[in-house]
Amino acid sequence: MNPEFIGSAHNPSQFPTDQGQEVAFSGRSNSGKSSAINTILARKRLARTSKIPGRTQLVNFFSVGESHRIVDLPGYGYARVSASVQEHWRNLLEAYFKRTSLAGLIVTVDVRRGAKELDRVMLNWANEARVPAAVLLTKADKMSRVAANVQETEATQNLGASVVLFSTRKHQGVEEARDWIWKWLGLG
Ligand code: GDP
Repeated sequence: MNPEFIGSAHNPSQFPTDQGQEVAFSGRSNSGKSSAINTILARKRLARTSKIPGRTQLVNFFSVGESHRIVDLPGYGYARVSASVQEHWRNLLEAYFKRTSLAGLIVTVDVRRGAKELDRVMLNWANEARVPAAVLLTKADKMSRVAANVQETEATQNLGASVVLFSTRKHQGVEEARDWIWKWLGLG
């Protein structure tokens, strides 16, 4: 498996042909989504980690096999974006979730912040699209093990999705995430 960047879409007409399987990543800006993609795909700078949250409103597609893709959805929840940017994000995402190749959704949630409304919106959209979803509770290295375990239990009870504590620093949860993704893609 040698992931390759396919392209970015600013609107649905730029999405690649809707065939095969793809797993999408979503998450609030700065939740560690890009770091998670890079770690899971074992590539240093495939997805761009950002210092300026909320700037990119692009859907980025990476190929991980002939008809298998990883999709980096635009981050959300950045307070200072305009109403028109929010509207654009919602339309883009609503169109995205109609893709028949969508086979699963990963949502990155900073373990210290917990899931917010837009994270739940994403999980709902996955549910409505009848695809499995999992939550990575990121930056788990920034919390004590006991406190992190409490967050994991709560999230599992509240979110209706698989949940795993995740840390790029400690390489925690990476194998679980890979297993889910490969299974959803039909490559497991
Ligand atoms: P994105 O905006 O959701 O794509 O988030 P990034 O992947 O760019 O990460 C945001 C910030 O969190 C960066 O400074 C990362 O270095 C940091 N970060 C991401 N994952 C981890 C992690 O597992 N542990 C720690 N301590 N920091 C992380």
